[in-house]
Amino acid sequence: MACACQRVYQHISRGRPSTFAWFGVGDLTESAAIVLRSVSKIYRMGLVEVHALRGVDLLVRRGEALAIMGPSGSGKTTLLNLIGALDRPTAGTVEIDGIDITQMSEKQLTAVRRDKISFVFQFFNLLPVLTAYENIEMPLLIAGVPEEERRERVEQLLEMVGLTERADHRPDELSGGEQQRVAIARALAKPKSATDSVIVLADEPTGDLDTVTGEEIMKTLRKLTREEGGTLVVVTHDPDVAEKMDRVLTMRDGLIVNSQ
Ligand code: ADP
Ligand code: MG
Repeated sequence: MACACQRVYQHISRGRPSTFAWFGVGDLTESAAIVLRSVSKIYRMGLVEVHALRGVDLLVRRGEALAIMGPSGSGKTTLLNLIGALDRPTAGTVEIDGIDITQMSEKQLTAVRRDKISFVFQFFNLLPVLTAYENIEMPLLIAGVPEEERRERVEQLLEMVGLTERADHRPDELSGGEQQRVAIARALAKPKSATDSVIVLADEPTGDLDTVTGEEIMKTLRKLTREEGGTLVVVTHDPDVAEKMDRVLTMRDGLIVNSQ
């Protein structure tokens, strides 16, 4: 088990960034996990410009669970990618825990993604050659967490998502719902110092699952994020899922048109 992980770790850890320290700054950002100010994103494809976001302002409190709805193409994934430090805005600022990430170097952004951001995707994105245990362990290996602490954390996460008995199964030996639970556990596998302020970003995490399994997954995601003291932003088409969050935003044509 450790063997396969080590191979992938050696592969990934080349070019591993140095630890990035988070220094909090005061005022309103103190209770905010995410602050977006006048964020716009223009994709340029040759001569064509796509205005995916057109000046979005958003504040998400630490510990809040937020749903984002809106038609296809309205900018939901773009917004999530900017919050998750996967991409940079064309204009405006994105602050994570009070730090403006738009001015950061690639190296610093990598550290933000590693320590602060947890992505859960529609299609799980598990590594097929690794077991459930090893998939969950991977981010901890990359972050350089010592072996003993790693094992404790992985076992704790496996239990939290109810998959202790499935630890040694590979993704193709698990159901869709079980795979997504592994993906959630993996998303929350961060160094101890980071878990109290992790931001979980889920882009249509139940999109490929049946309704009952989808509900189960959302419950797990919500419960875990809450227990870990994290912040949750979930993109969903399902009004039942959205309703269970603290707040629902609707996007249209690159803008937040409604917040309730
Ligand atoms: P949603 O997630 O709400 O469906 P997206 O954020 O994916 O919306 O897309 C918003 C708009 O930006 C769409 O018009 C889409 O075609 C465009 N878009 C998204 N990503 C890219 C990209 N990498 N290059 C060019 N256009 C893109
Ligand atoms: Mg999308």
